[in-house]
Amino acid sequence: MKQIQVEIKYKLGHTYKFKYDETDSHCPNCGNKSVWVEHGEGDFYCGPTYLCISCNYAFYIPIEKKAEYTEQQAIDQIKKELGL
Ligand SMILES: [Zn+2]
Repeated sequence: MKQIQVEIKYKLGHTYKFKYDETDSHCPNCGNKSVWVEHGEGDFYCGPTYLCISCNYAFYIPIEKKAEYTEQQAIDQIKKELGL
């Protein structure tokens, strides 16, 4: 997988270099396999930024969504196992 370094220029004048790694992920917005992820751990709360170079979309994982039928079963069983 390819890695590309970018240099971001901030409005206050300073610059900072980031590395982005190519991924196998599909973009949740356009479905294309054109997603790059910020190298390293990224933001403490959100994790690394993912960028889609096909549709200019930025996102974090996990992506929020309501649990589906099968996921709800897993949630229920984890809660049961924890006595909740
Ligand atoms: Zn996209």
